[in-house]
Amino acid sequence: MNKTRSDCFIKARRVISGGVNSPVRAWRAVGGNPVFVDRAQGSKIYDVSGKEYIDYVLSWGPMILGHAPAKVTAAICNTAKKGTSFGAPTQAETQMAKLITEAIPSIQLVRLTSSGTEATMTAIRLARGFTGRNMIAKFDGCYHGHSDSLLIKAGSGVATLGIPDSPGVPKELARLTLSLPYNDISALEKAIDTHGSNLAAIIVEPVAGNMGVVPPQKGFLEKLRELTAKNGILLIFDEVITGFRFTFGGYQNLIGIKPDLTCLGKIIGGGMPVGAIGGKKEIMEKLAPAGDIYQAGTLSGNPLAMSAGLTTLNIIKSKINSFALLDKKTERLCSEMEKLFSEKGIPVCINRCGSMFTIFFQQGPVYDLKTAKKSDTALFARFFQAMLKKGVWLAPSQFESVFISFAHTNADIDQTIDACSKTLKNL
Ligand SMILES: *Cc1c(COP(=O)(O)O)cnc(C)c1O
Repeated sequence: MNKTRSDCFIKARRVISGGVNSPVRAWRAVGGNPVFVDRAQGSKIYDVSGKEYIDYVLSWGPMILGHAPAKVTAAICNTAKKGTSFGAPTQAETQMAKLITEAIPSIQLVRLTSSGTEATMTAIRLARGFTGRNMIAKFDGCYHGHSDSLLIKAGSGVATLGIPDSPGVPKELARLTLSLPYNDISALEKAIDTHGSNLAAIIVEPVAGNMGVVPPQKGFLEKLRELTAKNGILLIFDEVITGFRFTFGGYQNLIGIKPDLTCLGKIIGGGMPVGAIGGKKEIMEKLAPAGDIYQAGTLSGNPLAMSAGLTTLNIIKSKINSFALLDKKTERLCSEMEKLFSEKGIPVCINRCGSMFTIFFQQGPVYDLKTAKKSDTALFARFFQAMLKKGVWLAPSQFESVFISFAHTNADIDQTIDACSKTLKNL
């Protein structure tokens, strides 16, 4: 039976609010009905009618090995046979925490959660409890999950839907969150001058991925580390996307900056629901039951998630040299597409960091949320739909990152460049 996208979406909307379980899946930013997925393997994803696409969304980052890698699938199946949740400790959780502390030197102790949102939420509570201060600061366009304190100028899904601050977030709480322009050292200095002694923490995506890819400018993160340390403010790196995306470790490994706390998710779960928070022992020990700052989760450190995550991280560890290849593959794709756009006379600014990138439909440069928003989102939407027709599934919003996995072949890249060339002929 040839099920159409609209059939699926109509049925979904009858029983699921908005038809989806996470807003960006509804494709509001590009129009039309979202593709309903049947299955995926390697770099390919298949819809319910059997059409094949090269997948550049990769579940929004986690599937760095591609879909359904044999070893991960086998590990999940074997674990499932032994029971799927116990509400009691398992050795797999210790192994996972040990692997994380080995990979990221700033992390001495870990707490595992079921999502990135829980990790960042916990980081904020921990920072407030540890410092005895109430205010926090974040950066415009950085997304740190959907908890109240962090849903302020939060980029991507939120930027796309045009909800700067969600109704339901009390003003009283929002007032405790400062949002500063990304990459703007002088705004940071001013904010710390004014509020420094009230700030519990500053949280940042070390490479922003939720307003489209915006890498940190030289000196920005260094200054952030210097000023937070000087003022007794905890520095939280939200590495939910960037953790294990560029190396066996976090982006912090590459730049040699040690935050006080780090949040992880996505890749460390190998496609299962996971998050983690980790950092300095003296801070992490304040969490209950060692300390009195409460945090908990019925499914935290779930056996299936641990087996998928551990298998994934061990493969990454054994393939650490493959990151250079991944980088090269992504660079070739970006530079070839850049050439095609330039030949066609359509101005684009491609921001790339390793295997994640965004094609901003504008001249650029894009270095913060304000500059990201100058993009021609209508033209982006037309490009997205035309690429999709040709079997290339990009992120369905201008303000998201595109990801490449170890499973993407040179043939996939060639096919994508070809699809781009054909798309631009008629754009
Ligand atoms: C995805 C994401 C989160 C939230 O993780 P969930 O597992 O979706 O709750 C937090 N921070 C960043 C940077 C993310 O990209």
